[in-house]
Amino acid sequence: MLDENRVRADIPAYGAGSDLVFLDSAGSSLPPRVVVDTVVAHLRREAEIGGYRAANERLDDLAAVKTDIGRLINADPTGIALSDSATRAWADFFYSVPLAPGDRILISGADYASNAIAALQRAKATGAVVEQIPSDGSGQLDLDALADMVDERVQLVSVLHAPTNGGLVNPAADATRIAHSVGALVLLDACQSAGQLPIDVAELDVDALSVTGRKWLRGPRGTGFLYVRPGLAASMEPQRLDLHSAQWTGPQEYALVPDARRFEFWECDVAARLGLGAAVRYLLELGPDDVYDAIAVRAEHLRKSLPEIDGVTVRDIGIRHSGIVSFTVEGKSAVEVRDRLAAQNITVTASHASSTLLDMTARGLDSVVRASPHCFVSFEELDRFVGAVATL
Ligand SMILES: *Cc1c(COP(=O)(O)O)cnc(C)c1O
Repeated sequence: MLDENRVRADIPAYGAGSDLVFLDSAGSSLPPRVVVDTVVAHLRREAEIGGYRAANERLDDLAAVKTDIGRLINADPTGIALSDSATRAWADFFYSVPLAPGDRILISGADYASNAIAALQRAKATGAVVEQIPSDGSGQLDLDALADMVDERVQLVSVLHAPTNGGLVNPAADATRIAHSVGALVLLDACQSAGQLPIDVAELDVDALSVTGRKWLRGPRGTGFLYVRPGLAASMEPQRLDLHSAQWTGPQEYALVPDARRFEFWECDVAARLGLGAAVRYLLELGPDDVYDAIAVRAEHLRKSLPEIDGVTVRDIGIRHSGIVSFTVEGKSAVEVRDRLAAQNITVTASHASSTLLDMTARGLDSVVRASPHCFVSFEELDRFVGAVATL
């Protein structure tokens, strides 16, 4: 069991007298104090002795960032490339997959706009085609339809683990098995699942996976990472290289580094990376399974309470649910609901059709309100939020 009091005491935002109800860990969460302190301390150190010496003092801690991420997702640290966002991590891998005319890229019905835009751009440039994997009656990725769709022209399947606009969790491991049966690569968008659901890359068997730091992991903004399957990175040529991802070995030659580091550039926000490491270590120390359980019961509490309000419809689809609870209020736009709750210091977000176009269009929705409670939100706060929605 998670010690809720300890977790809350570790959050600077919950100072004396705070009446904040924070339900936006799917957007940008509240970090624990150790993350803020780590980032600020490193910025101060850089100002004292310069960025290079400051980084050299923290080489072990910087290496530990990848080791700790590896512990969280059951990966070897050599399979991790640190990045500055989930989108950049996703794109770094995606743009490095060779494509030829007639090749097929499959995307999920719940896929994220940035992924779909990248897929469409590459299709335009290479003559490949982008196709949508249908959703089944429950709303999750339709495994039978996927099995019928795949053939050897499919080069890459983009599987969306947990979408940005609701509580769906897709059957990623099953989808991966089907994609691999025709030799396609699987790139898993784990941006909304890492930090709130168990992720074991060996079990999922995906070829690559992208994650952001600021959401459920509670790290700083401008952080993220890419995981690439052992051995696979060595056969891929990233679209862009520098002196960190490759070595200039002769006047006409360069050599790529052998592991996932070939997807990184040299320059980075060292303070933010140390902060990401602190966030992951904090999660590991709390006990990830306890954190995941605490998120799940909070989301279920909201899924039970919200529909009891007249005019409120919970919009979550699928069979397995994440910690994101999406809903609409009759006669009110999601933005209006968000803004009126913000006036009571209750933080939720509006998720618009443009972020998840295929799914929202199929369901005739233009926006939903998104409440995403992390493990640190009290049940009293959840009920205060439900009460506030009821009085809108
Ligand atoms: C937020 C989000 C992203 C993008 O993450 P960034 O760190 O902003 O690049 C990608 N996929 C999903 C499902 C998201 O919710």
